Amino acid sequence: MATLTMKFGGTSVGSAAAISQVAAIIKEQVAAGHRMLVISSAMGGVTNMLLEGATTAAAGDARRYQALTHTLRLKHEETIRTLLTSDVERIAIHDEVGALIDEFETLCYGIYVLRDASPKAMDKVSSLGERMCVPIVAALLRQEGVPSRAINASHLIVTDDRFQNAGVRFEETEVKARETLLPLLDQGVVPVVTGFLGATREGVITTLGRSGSDYSATLLGAYVDSDEVWIWTDVDGVMTADPRVVPDACVIPALSYGEVGEMAYFGAKVLHAKTVQPVAERGIPVWVKNTFNPTFQGTIITNNDQTTPGTVKTVTAIRDVSLITVAGRGMVGVPGIAARTFTAVASQDANVLLISQSSSEQSICFIVPEQKAEAVVHAIENELAREFGRQDVERAWANNDVEIVTVVGAGMRAQPGVAARVFGALGDAGVNIEVIAQGASDYCLSVVVHRNATETALRAIHKLVVQNGVGV
Ligand code: ADP
Ligand code: ASP
Ligand code: MG
Repeated sequence: MATLTMKFGGTSVGSAAAISQVAAIIKEQVAAGHRMLVISSAMGGVTNMLLEGATTAAAGDARRYQALTHTLRLKHEETIRTLLTSDVERIAIHDEVGALIDEFETLCYGIYVLRDASPKAMDKVSSLGERMCVPIVAALLRQEGVPSRAINASHLIVTDDRFQNAGVRFEETEVKARETLLPLLDQGVVPVVTGFLGATREGVITTLGRSGSDYSATLLGAYVDSDEVWIWTDVDGVMTADPRVVPDACVIPALSYGEVGEMAYFGAKVLHAKTVQPVAERGIPVWVKNTFNPTFQGTIITNNDQTTPGTVKTVTAIRDVSLITVAGRGMVGVPGIAARTFTAVASQDANVLLISQSSSEQSICFIVPEQKAEAVVHAIENELAREFGRQDVERAWANNDVEIVTVVGAGMRAQPGVAARVFGALGDAGVNIEVIAQGASDYCLSVVVHRNATETALRAIHKLVVQNGVGV
């Protein structure tokens, strides 16, 4: 008997038919005698609708959120009606979900009146999708004869108050998660927990960032001592590139925690960036599998770096970034300029995604999220005002027309010439490289290119990945 944690993403619970498939997957594992913890996302598209309702209300639009309320009601009511046959369950779940949809409308009205959607309000609104979904999944399991209980993760996951991207308070979360979940697992009950959300110590709802349900699953999965975590999604596993951009992308059978961490950090949309942290510490394997093709093996993620030695495995891209350059002939040899530049960046709470310094030291360039670019340039101008006055530093500017393309693979460090081949492939494809940075982890190599060249770059590098025989 094993303890398995299974997370189902938005598409996997996106319709009545999909939720039936989810119930079948869970039932099969319960029948095999396993203890099962389930984490669910909101129904596909719902989180986007909730956020859109709040944003349009804040902008003074009273109609859009009302239309969205109607759509959400229809979507959930139809799912409940199709799936639940017992009157008692159907009415109870209908009322419970209906109350959450009413809450959405009320919150949006408040936001509309105030013309203000604070990050705190956004979290209250966006967390509603998962809360609407888990009662339906749990009720269907009960109907199928599997004892199950819907659980709101605001009672389990304790976070700080960085709304929309909250940090987890690990020790408190571990205590609460074990207290609530272990007795249920011991009794053979399947807890169905909301992904994505948590709450502060005071009980105010927070979220873990978009796609946060993956992280909820590995956190809670680790705390209940799972033998394995299975992440169910709508593709056959983690792939060599985003299949929406690179049509011949293929599934990678095995990856290490380090590789997945880098991939997610550098924009691969398949898993939340923090997903592997909780499981990597404990060596818990994670499977990524397709709900709609459940017999396919999928991808296994473990601490084994050498699963496919000597190779590049994936290529990813990050959009919505800005390249900041600080340049000046007088910067050569002036101690402390880099340190002060990055102090200024940090003062704006901007995450530096990549740094590159020219060997002549006449410029420093680095990448920050686009929405921070303007503030970062101002902060640098203030911090280096004296150097600007003396013209040691001549310019600090932001270029928003760039994106980062990253190749990831643990085998890269053992294989000479990877960079040369990547640059060669980009050159042959006519892609101009603006900046190069070798990742500190040895797992990745990033280039900054013009945004119009990203797709060409991804496809050109992906050809190398496939030539290496990865993922096939
Ligand atoms: P879920 O709702 O199940 O969490 P997501 O939409 O968050 O699903 O993530 C799965 C999607 O990620 C896939 O449908 C795929 O289009 C996209 N994707 C982007 N990059 C990759 C990649 N390298 N491997 C697999 N899928 C990827
Ligand atoms: N529903 C949330 C989102 O769309 C969290 C998740 O699906 O993981 O971002
Ligand atoms: Mg996701």
